[in-house]
Amino acid sequence: MYFKRLEIHGFKSFADPAVIEFNEGITAIVGPNGSGKSNISDAIRWVLGEQSAKELRGGKMEEVIFNGTESRRARGMAEVTLVIDNAERKLNVDYTEVAVTRRMYRSGESEYLINGNNCRLKDIRELIMDTGIGVDGYSIIGQGRIADIISNKTESRRKIFEEAAGVVAYKTRRAEAVKKLETTSSNLERIDDIVSELD
Ligand code: ATP
Repeated sequence: MYFKRLEIHGFKSFADPAVIEFNEGITAIVGPNGSGKSNISDAIRWVLGEQSAKELRGGKMEEVIFNGTESRRARGMAEVTLVIDNAERKLNVDYTEVAVTRRMYRSGESEYLINGNNCRLKDIRELIMDTGIGVDGYSIIGQGRIADIISNKTESRRKIFEEAAGVVAYKTRRAEAVKKLETTSSNLERIDDIVSELD
């Protein structure tokens, strides 16, 4: 599994549609200061579901939409698509290529798509869970993240090992099941109360 292609339109400094092809192996992005190199990794984080504007080096999430220059009007929407090679079926869908898309409008409204079909952010999270490529994974290592790994924060390190070990999906499902059980038991208590009132 590897990232094959990144399509960016209206995201940060990418006013016009841009397609970046990646090959297997190492890709280095070089360019002058301020030319948009980090915006490319921000686009990858964003399309994979990043919810923190701070992690994307901004104040508000809407700031990811191209906000215009002296000669160009601002855009109303940002769209990023990340095409992932899935020949080995590491992602649990029966497609050789998986395209994950995120759109955001100035109104704050967001859309997520998998292979062109509308989906929820949760579906994207579940798709990439335990592969290491999620925003909480270990594939995007920013400066703060390195400090995190080598610091004494055992909890931060543990998260990385859990993702690598492939247990995050199970832990998440367990947490969801526990939550459902709690809701069910409080519903049962309410029913008991109503029954005893009726008695
Ligand atoms: P450096 O080498 O200095 O780290 P870089 O190549 O990584 O730079 P980025 O930080 O990716 O550059 O890009 C910064 C540029 O992106 C700035 O010129 C900034 O004005 C522009 N930019 C960021 N957000 C937007 C936006 N919403 N609309 C238009 N331009 C934006």
